[in-house]
Amino acid sequence: MPEGDTVWLVAKRLDDALSGDVLTRSDFRVPQLATTDLVGRRVLETRPRGKHLLTRVEGGLTLHTHLRMDGMWHLHRPGARWTGGPDWQVRVVLSTSEWDAIGYRMPVLELLETEREGDVVGHLGPDLLDPAFDRDEAVRRLLGDPAREIGQALLDQSNLAGIGNMYKAEALFVGKVSPWTPVGEVGDVGAVVDVARRWLERNKEHFSQSTTGDPRHDHWVYGRAGKPCLRCGTRIETAQQGDPPYDRVTAWCPRCQPGPHPEPVRRSQRR
Ligand SMILES: [Zn+2]
Repeated sequence: MPEGDTVWLVAKRLDDALSGDVLTRSDFRVPQLATTDLVGRRVLETRPRGKHLLTRVEGGLTLHTHLRMDGMWHLHRPGARWTGGPDWQVRVVLSTSEWDAIGYRMPVLELLETEREGDVVGHLGPDLLDPAFDRDEAVRRLLGDPAREIGQALLDQSNLAGIGNMYKAEALFVGKVSPWTPVGEVGDVGAVVDVARRWLERNKEHFSQSTTGDPRHDHWVYGRAGKPCLRCGTRIETAQQGDPPYDRVTAWCPRCQPGPHPEPVRRSQRR
C-alpha cells in the first residue's frame, strides 16, 4: 500500500509531466464522471496531501485521487504501450501533447471545486512531508486519546498524515514500543513521529522504502513474520490490529518491543 512518500513521488512526477500544459484528452471511465470533459484546460499543478493527490486544472477544478491499496498513476509518452494493468482497470486518462497519464484501479476519483478541497483533505492532521510540518500539533493529536493503541493512532490520518502500515510497524520497532501500547503510556511519542518523518523524507525521491539502511534487509519487522529479529534473533510475530474491516496485520518483535500484545498468529507455512 502506498504510504506518504510514494504518494509524494507520484505527485511530483505527475506535476513535472503535466503542469503548465493543456489537456488534449480526458477520458473518465467511472460512471459519475463519464460525461466530464477537461480538454482545452491547462493543468496547473499536482500536490500531495498525506496520501491524497490533488491535480488542479484551469477553471477552478481539482481532480482528487487516492491510491488506497493498489491504485496507481502511470505516465507514458504518446503512442507507448500502457503497462499498469489490463484495460478494464483504467479509471482515467489525462493527456497532453507530451504525456499520457493513466490512473489504474483508482478507488477514489472525483472532481471538485478547488476552493472546496478542504471537504476531502481538511480532516487530515499535520502532513509529515510538509516542510512546515507541525510536530507539536501531531503529538497533541496522538495524545488526544491516550487509551488508544499507538499502532492504531499512528495510522489515523486525522492525527498525522502520511504513515501507513509499513512505516508504523518499523517506527514502533525502532522506538522499542509494542504496537498495542496505549499512546498515553508511550514514553516519547514525538520520537516515534520523528523516526517516521525521517524515513518518509529520505525515501520520497525514489520508490524503495528501506528503513534499515541495509541493502540485505529493507525492513526490521514488516514482512518478516517468522524470521529472526535482526537485532536480537527472536522470532518476529504478527497479529491483526484494529477492528474489521480496518484491521491490519501488524508485525513486531516481542523482545525488542515489550508491552501488551495479543496472541500472535502463526501459520507453519508462513514465510
Ligand atoms: Zn528483537
